[in-house]
Amino acid sequence: MLKYFIYCRKSSEEEERQILSIEAQLQELRDYAKQNSLFVIKEFSESKTAKEPGRPIFNQMLSEMEEGKATGILAWNPDRLARNSIDGGKVIYLVDMGKIQSLKFPTFWFDTTPQGKFMLSVAFGQAKYYTDNLRENILRGIRQKLRRGELPAKAPLGYYNEPRLRTIEPDKATFKKMKKCLELFAEGNHTLTKIRDEMFSMGLVSKTGKPIHLSSLQFLLTNPFYYGMFKYRGELQQGSHKPMVSKKLFDKIQLAIHDNGKPRKISQQKVFPFVNFAQCGECGYQITAEQHIKKSGLVFRYYRCTKKSKTHKCGQHDFLREEKLAEQVQNICQNVSIPDEWRDKFLAKISQWEQEQNDTSGIFAQNLKDKIKVIKEKTNRLIDLHLDGEIELDEFKQKKNILVEQKADLENKLNDFERKGNHWLELMKNWIIDANQAHNLANTKNSPGMRNFLKTVGSNRILLNGKLQISFAKQYELLLNIPPKARTTGEGEAFNTWRNSVWWPLLDSNQ
Ligand SMILES: [Zn+2]
Repeated sequence: MLKYFIYCRKSSEEEERQILSIEAQLQELRDYAKQNSLFVIKEFSESKTAKEPGRPIFNQMLSEMEEGKATGILAWNPDRLARNSIDGGKVIYLVDMGKIQSLKFPTFWFDTTPQGKFMLSVAFGQAKYYTDNLRENILRGIRQKLRRGELPAKAPLGYYNEPRLRTIEPDKATFKKMKKCLELFAEGNHTLTKIRDEMFSMGLVSKTGKPIHLSSLQFLLTNPFYYGMFKYRGELQQGSHKPMVSKKLFDKIQLAIHDNGKPRKISQQKVFPFVNFAQCGECGYQITAEQHIKKSGLVFRYYRCTKKSKTHKCGQHDFLREEKLAEQVQNICQNVSIPDEWRDKFLAKISQWEQEQNDTSGIFAQNLKDKIKVIKEKTNRLIDLHLDGEIELDEFKQKKNILVEQKADLENKLNDFERKGNHWLELMKNWIIDANQAHNLANTKNSPGMRNFLKTVGSNRILLNGKLQISFAKQYELLLNIPPKARTTGEGEAFNTWRNSVWWPLLDSNQ
């Protein structure tokens, strides 16, 4: 049985006000450990920032792990462990060395696969977004998994991720139960709520031990994984795992869902676009929405803290009108977006780079191909010599082996090179297009669109004293820092200064 350390941290800094107190973290983690039967042997906590390396208690914990006293850490979120590359790197290094075999976070799913480590390093804030060899390796790993028909993600309910073979296998405890539920639902006379309750009574519950959320259930019921396929990036792939039901039954389920009417999640979001969008900046619990209809028939809609914390009496009494929140969302979107003229200019620059890169890559690739050709010719000559009896078998074998190795080496290089291609330029292009899309979403006040965009590019969405705050991925943070004057004109001195000091160097650094 793995032994775990619990680690809690909260810095006294202003920006961490929204983080759960150490006491609250401890309580949550103890509960989590209990629910998941984790064997905790010691608890560590400290009030220090994790931005700089050198936290004494954290270091103490890691050295105890190196001694093998425990092989697992349980913490509220990866950012409790590290916010700098040294500490983040240490944790990942210990994972690589097998000194850490398990990291558990109630807020973050991790396993020790390459993807898991990649996600973790992103969480530690050390990932360089555009050019990262690690990323390339992950992509390679994912492609390999796809070729083998393995879903590169967490196994859905009823299955588990086999840690050694890295495959997905039926879970003894839940496979049959889940199958039973799918069959029940396919009959068509059960609502989602009924199935959910049925599942709960069978012990099919969410990670937190509560009944599965209806939107998650909807997601499960439409997951092609259950009939042997899976979707990756919108594409359907043949899986190599054991199917739970037949395609025919799966189709019946889809029909039943359709007949069940629109799923709750969608209809709810239609009414309240910003439900489950942000957390309370004081207590960390979700912001919920409420609707009041006046006698006159006027409808008022508000957002407020759910105040579910048992350990902290939340003092946020604001009821924020939906219009006010939408206005803030619109402003924030506007601030991380780029206008149409910019998009066109930047895209033009990118295609110029693409052209340049293609030219140089062409030469490089041709060079490799030429070398491979030469080796092939040499090999043929060698075979001829041997057939003509000019050289002995031993010498022939030895020389041929050298050529084979050289050829394989060059071919690998060529493969690698072709695969990498214009990867970072692609990413940059997508960024420009997305950021411009945000501009259009904001202009048309498309609330669901803006919400989805901010959910994708922003994290730590917090509502405090009626003010929405969002942390952005690095490339959007850059946009955030554009001087307002530059933003409105899209040209002129202010714009040029920003472009020359921020944008071009950023691109250069990625070449
Ligand atoms: Zn609150």
